[in-house]
Amino acid sequence: MNIGCHLSAAEGFTPMAKQALDIGADTFQFFTRNPRGFKAKKIEEDDVKEFLQIIKDNNFAKILAHAPYTLNPCSADKRVRDTAKALFVDDLKRMEYIPGNLYNFHPGSHVGQGVQTGIKMIVGLLNEVLKKEQTTTVLLETMSGKGSEVGGRFEELQQIISGVELKDKIGVCLDTCHIYDGGYDIVNDLDGVLEQFDKIMGLDKLKAIHLNDTKNPFSSHKDRHEKIGEGFIGLEAIKRIINHPNLKDIPFLLETPNEIDGYAKEIALLKSFYRG
Ligand code: FE
Ligand code: FE
Ligand code: ZN
Repeated sequence: MNIGCHLSAAEGFTPMAKQALDIGADTFQFFTRNPRGFKAKKIEEDDVKEFLQIIKDNNFAKILAHAPYTLNPCSADKRVRDTAKALFVDDLKRMEYIPGNLYNFHPGSHVGQGVQTGIKMIVGLLNEVLKKEQTTTVLLETMSGKGSEVGGRFEELQQIISGVELKDKIGVCLDTCHIYDGGYDIVNDLDGVLEQFDKIMGLDKLKAIHLNDTKNPFSSHKDRHEKIGEGFIGLEAIKRIINHPNLKDIPFLLETPNEIDGYAKEIALLKSFYRG
């Protein structure tokens, strides 16, 4: 299995890759810039070079860059949408320093304009920023449907995908906490949920999994992550997820409330339950 966790982008790519190795990971997620602001670090060529060597030597799976939470492509405020576009363009440019990886974003909140207006705006942004020559796959994250979030239903994500012209540049990141909170019962009917995913979007669109437990009961639309095995999803369901034949080639990324030691423990635990 390919597994890693969210790391704070301390001093560039190389320290993150080394930290991932330290905790037994072969992939990781990081924020492209301050998650609640917009500031990004300068890209250093030496850092990139060393990083690419480390991930090659250690057979890393694809790594996942996460856009800031403040990026909202379907805000009612044009300035917010323009900022989202500018950040997206800059992030995708930066991603090409580490070719062939994944860039995940939250589809956004339509803030009262309605889901359909939101979807149109998201599609509009994607068609402006995606380029034929890019090597990065952009992922829509499945959301919990909190507030006016777009992407709480598979059908909404599919509507976005079907509006995108460069379909081979777009995929989905499934967040287990979000979809359970969103009303997809991966505890009692994992097969049924995956069938729905396949029917609506196609399982070939699934490129990454955010593996999280949840602090809230089924269908609560809350989005609060819990440590593996300590929440309402629970360890048995998580074991079934990591061992599901349709999910085995997809990188698992932990976004559980942990410091680095806690992540190392969860990675070891999950590996011990993986039947290969
Ligand atoms: Fe996210
Ligand atoms: Fe997530
Ligand atoms: Zn979340």
